[in-house]
Amino acid sequence: MTHFNFESSIAKFKDQADWMGLRFYREKSHDYFVRNERLESCQTNLDQGIMIEVVVNGHLGYAATSDMTSDGIKQAFLRAKSLSQQAAPFKAAEFSNAQRPPSRGKFQSPYLHRLNTLTTDEIMSVLLKASQTLKRSDSIVSRYAATEVKETQIQYISSSGAQWEQDFQLVTTQFQATAQNAKDIQTRTFGNSLQAGAEILQDPKLFEQCIMTAEEALELLEAENCPTGVMDVLIAPDQMNLQIHESIGHPLELDRILGDERNYAGWSLINQTHFGKLQFGSKLLNVVFDPHQENEFASYGFDDTGNPATYEFLIKDGLLLRGLGSLESQKRLGVPGVANARASSWNRAPIDRMANINLVPGSSSVEEMISSVQYGVLLKSNKSWSIDDYRNKFQFGCEYGQLIENGKLTRAVKNPNYRGKTLEFWNNLKAVGNPKTYETYGSPYCGKGEPSQIIRVGHGSPYCLFSHVEVFGGLS
Ligand SMILES: [Zn+2]
Repeated sequence: MTHFNFESSIAKFKDQADWMGLRFYREKSHDYFVRNERLESCQTNLDQGIMIEVVVNGHLGYAATSDMTSDGIKQAFLRAKSLSQQAAPFKAAEFSNAQRPPSRGKFQSPYLHRLNTLTTDEIMSVLLKASQTLKRSDSIVSRYAATEVKETQIQYISSSGAQWEQDFQLVTTQFQATAQNAKDIQTRTFGNSLQAGAEILQDPKLFEQCIMTAEEALELLEAENCPTGVMDVLIAPDQMNLQIHESIGHPLELDRILGDERNYAGWSLINQTHFGKLQFGSKLLNVVFDPHQENEFASYGFDDTGNPATYEFLIKDGLLLRGLGSLESQKRLGVPGVANARASSWNRAPIDRMANINLVPGSSSVEEMISSVQYGVLLKSNKSWSIDDYRNKFQFGCEYGQLIENGKLTRAVKNPNYRGKTLEFWNNLKAVGNPKTYETYGSPYCGKGEPSQIIRVGHGSPYCLFSHVEVFGGLS
């Protein structure tokens, strides 16, 4: 990790504000993208800078700079202080260093081999081989293989004694096969975003998955459309991932409930009176904020205000207990939250982000869940999604469906879609898969905030069975 001596800056300016903090952020990323066995993109980006925060007259102000000389830091400090002084008479809440805990420590994401040990040639040969492997037949008309490897370092120091650092090794992969015949086009995709090292791209299982993905795209070309009707749905973890993200994660963000995001990302069907009272889902629904799950994409030791991240139940036995809100939002709304104030980079202020939101496994095997279904459909891999501003009415399309008839999995069906309303849907949760059915997925693309911030999230879930779901076939 690169170390800058910020102690001297803190010493120089701390008497000119009620509190001040410095957050240094450095990110190096490499993006590679192969289409149809040809390299289409290879980029390296380095981004680094400092965010300075101050508390003056009970108000938080901030300013960022990529000029890390002592003069650059001075100018940013003066700007943050001036903004804070000017805005203090209009402040929404009284803040102090209580919203910026004096945490100390280190977080290192897990890896076997650091990502900087991967060479460009090594990454390119994996992607080219994956693209070749995806070409199982002439009907696979398009192959796509991409990866982003990212190393992120954050250092934080404050006038009240905070001093911590975090080092993240982050890998995203995406592989896709598109099959076409005279009548139809079908796509299957796999990939993930994890905290891990070079070993992810060195795993030979990756090519076995390429074969399976291509075979399923070909299988879908021959499949009938998904039937339409109200039925049971068994949802695989790679679709549960988005279901949790959109209809649990976002509506529980306290800044959305406060209205901060109403102009852009949207509002919420949840309000502050619901916490501790609302039966959000069936008794089988347990959802946690889990910042410590190994390899999950949004694990961390501290959020970007220095709040130590701890495991918390958001929903227990279906009852809504806690929101996803920073110490600032918790003070403003009077609702319990979590350590989730995060910034996408050095030039953004931390806002309420969901991080790792996981559905706790239950006790059912996949076989037990299938055998309990008279007529329904197994759904895998998100293809399309739509949800309203309140995160209430939603509609999702999946890549792959498989009918369940009289307790048995039968034929594949294409273009499966389903829709519902958030609370009704989660209250129809009727079985939760055991730990053997649990998988973790991540995404680097959760967007929110003005100015815009794109940040990483993680979601773990077992297979889950829902009853009375409106299912329909055809393109969504
Ligand atoms: Zn999102």
